[in-house]
Amino acid sequence: MKKPFITLDQIKEITKEYPTPFHIYDEKGIRENARRLKEAFSWNKGFKEYFAIKATPNPYLIKILHEEGCGVDCSSYTELMLAEALGIVGDEIMFSSNATPAEEFVKARELDSYINLDDFTHIDFLDKVAGLPDTISCRYNPGGTLEISNTIMDNPSEAKYGFTKDQMIEGFKILKERGVKHFGIHAFLASNTISDVYYPELARILFELAVELRDKTGVHIKFINLSGGIGIPYRPEEKPNNIMVIGEGVRKAFEEVLVPAGMEDVSIFTELGRYMLGPYGHLVSKAVHEKNIYKNYIGLDACAVDLMRPAMYGAYHHITVMGKEDKPHDKMYDITGSLCENNDKFAIDRMLPKIDIGDYLVIHDTGAHGYSMGYNYNGKLKSAELLLKEDGSVQMIRRAETPKDYFATFDFSDILKNMKYD
Ligand SMILES: *Cc1c(COP(=O)(O)O)cnc(C)c1O
Repeated sequence: MKKPFITLDQIKEITKEYPTPFHIYDEKGIRENARRLKEAFSWNKGFKEYFAIKATPNPYLIKILHEEGCGVDCSSYTELMLAEALGIVGDEIMFSSNATPAEEFVKARELDSYINLDDFTHIDFLDKVAGLPDTISCRYNPGGTLEISNTIMDNPSEAKYGFTKDQMIEGFKILKERGVKHFGIHAFLASNTISDVYYPELARILFELAVELRDKTGVHIKFINLSGGIGIPYRPEEKPNNIMVIGEGVRKAFEEVLVPAGMEDVSIFTELGRYMLGPYGHLVSKAVHEKNIYKNYIGLDACAVDLMRPAMYGAYHHITVMGKEDKPHDKMYDITGSLCENNDKFAIDRMLPKIDIGDYLVIHDTGAHGYSMGYNYNGKLKSAELLLKEDGSVQMIRRAETPKDYFATFDFSDILKNMKYD
């Protein structure tokens, strides 16, 4: 059974000050998880996690992760700005973008961040717009399908990212000629893997590539970035990944491939988003309508604007009806938001206890790719974000949007001068 990290009593207390819907994050869970990851890779001297900002771009949360030793993975101008404002610069930033605008490369160079090139043509592009740094990383796409123990994990040949192997070899030669001294290798081959073998398998592919690249081009490989992709158990029947087993699996590949090749100085980097924060966020919402036609619907005060994954991917998010955990789950509902979009459903045909208007519903695992994917369709405003601190107190870490925020992009004109904001 999936259990929320907050109780009904806590929710009742919080809603006296902050109305639903809101996202809330669990500081204790975040810190403990970050420490476990660090421990799992403590065998590697240069290990560093670069938290993928896009998963949850909240400065308070990034600061917590930074305190736990994490850097950041940025892939846009505003993500670089956020890192800079938090004093996270230089080799604590991995700029891992694609189809990159020139001004983003310029900014990344200005912050002296690591740059992970997505394409062979970006060598010339970066050289022209911002110059080449001393250390550079290239993203690898092996093509084909990624199969692990006879299961197809993903289809790299369909992914827009990365260099082919020939391009990696040619690219490293060109970069070396142009004075680049140290190299990184990056790949992201499968997303949300519930498997302790994905990372070790990916590591082995990249370690073997690293040896080949070193042998064929003579470059110094400084780091290997295993990127994102470690998943979380969204469904109650799924088994969580064991990060210690994953760390050990990567170590085994390291010792079998890199150490014999004399490359034991290679640092292992990760760029996890979902794994770092996913389970430590809840979307808290209230049942405001019940409707019975051909199916039974419960309408919430949250909608896909607050959490898009179910609408976008048909993703499962577990729901707890607070205070009714032990009641029989004998009613089948579609749990919906208020958008004029029939995909605005947090759950379809979900067996839940009987829901009454005013019940609080916790939607689980919204800590990554939750708030951040939100949008403003139907003129819906984005919710607040709160932090449940280690001492049990609650802090607002982002206020809810107001209509003024929504109309702010017309502030160049007086066409809305009669808008009434109270
Ligand atoms: C999204 C992304 C990540 C994080 O992915 P998760 O699935 O959240 O771990 C890491 N690196 C890059 C380049 C990404 O685009």
